[in-house]
Amino acid sequence: ALWVAALDHVMEFLARESEVDLKQIRAVAGSGQQHGSVYLNASATGALSQLDPRRPLVEQIGTIFSRPTSPIWMDSSTSQECREITDALSGPSALADLTGSRAFERFTGPQIRKFYHTEPEAYANTTTIHLVSSFLATLLCGEHAAIDPGDGAGMNLMDLRRKAWAPAALDATAPGLQDKLPPVKESSTIAGRLSSYWAERFGFSTETLVALSSGDNPCSLIGVGLVASGRIAISLGTSDTLFGFLPQPVVDSGGRGHVFGSPTGDYMSLICFLNGSLAREQIRDAAGYSWDDFERVLGETPPGNRGRVLLPWFAPEITPHVPESGVRRYGLDDSDGPGNVRAVVEAQMMAMANHSEWMGVEVDTIYATGGAASNRGILTIMADVHGANVYQLEVGNSAALGAALRAFQAFEVACGRGTSWDEVIRDFVTPLAESRIAPDPERVELYRELRRVYTACEEHALGRGEDPASFLARYQDA
Ligand code: ADP
Repeated sequence: ALWVAALDHVMEFLARESEVDLKQIRAVAGSGQQHGSVYLNASATGALSQLDPRRPLVEQIGTIFSRPTSPIWMDSSTSQECREITDALSGPSALADLTGSRAFERFTGPQIRKFYHTEPEAYANTTTIHLVSSFLATLLCGEHAAIDPGDGAGMNLMDLRRKAWAPAALDATAPGLQDKLPPVKESSTIAGRLSSYWAERFGFSTETLVALSSGDNPCSLIGVGLVASGRIAISLGTSDTLFGFLPQPVVDSGGRGHVFGSPTGDYMSLICFLNGSLAREQIRDAAGYSWDDFERVLGETPPGNRGRVLLPWFAPEITPHVPESGVRRYGLDDSDGPGNVRAVVEAQMMAMANHSEWMGVEVDTIYATGGAASNRGILTIMADVHGANVYQLEVGNSAALGAALRAFQAFEVACGRGTSWDEVIRDFVTPLAESRIAPDPERVELYRELRRVYTACEEHALGRGEDPASFLARYQDA
């Protein structure tokens, strides 16, 4: 209901307070929090098609939910369900190969299974399970909208290659699930037109096309311009995320990465590193530095850090899987401020490069976003470790921008025009040319070797390999 109320507010704002000419809106597409889900009962279909334009939407939908709350990505209470689904599908690799990811607590399938377990009657009363994204499109056009392969891949329920529900995954999750899920359709599919409710209440046009909504991650892929091979984006936020365009559904045999559908009809990968800004801040604060000091120190310390390595696991890490937090240092004193500053950033960049190798992408361009992307010292190490040009992007809200660009593309498709994705993003998602940081060939070579040593440190710290001290010694005088 909170989401519905939010939509009421947005539409009211557009109609009454913005200067947008509503009749000029040709198409709309939404971006929803990936993995979140909405549960509707048998009254929903009728209620949504007979809305009273004199009243806010939220006042009219109170009875359509079979579950009063929506689980979202922050829920991690489904470990048991993850195990059960994984076992039923012959293990994590088989599940990842089928759906693009091994079972994750926040993914919608395990969430649905938990609902079925804990509230079987409410589950039985559920006629439609939407994702946040497909629910949004449903509210806009007044009839049930399909789920797109971008958001659908965040459920552990979709056959990644066929882009259709995987019967084995549905069976492993909950009985009768096939009948409760909307179909999967390509992202550019038109779900319908803006319903007469919006036209009569606020003056929108019933000619406006409603394209399928997608998840915030697939929408961000478009919003940062990743519509071709060789480009990835790295978001340096509270956590660091690396995501990229994939022409083929390659799956991470290590089980940490995700593969989703891309709104372009191709695929995307996404890897999350929990210790991002969190770790950089800890090191900065321990040394008593400002961000300016941090950047200056990165410029003054030697690439390779004379073989001194830090594993930045201030909190339990997702990639690689580190269940117990604990920072490890090799050859590095924790009171050495400059050494730790360089070590944390080199570690993060080498971990990203190593743990994204499974994508098989020859990276030539990286778009850097997020709060720490303003730090060119960090971006220089990114360029050298990845051997790629790094650009800063001036994208405020890449998920929203990506959804808007998707609406335009779906409109072009509906009009029978074959506009390419490069044309769709042109003029909207242009990297700042003057921001380019080119990799330095000598340093690229250094990091190519050091990345293997970093892997040895990770393995050693996780109790799976030898002490890497002798490898590190080679760099001491460098
Ligand atoms: P999120 O969206 O995950 O909340 P942001 O992308 O807004 O995060 O990034 C916020 C983070 O950026 C802050 O936590 C801070 O650590 C980091 N940050 C801000 N400025 C700098 C800087 N100059 N150098 C490095 N990190 C920075």
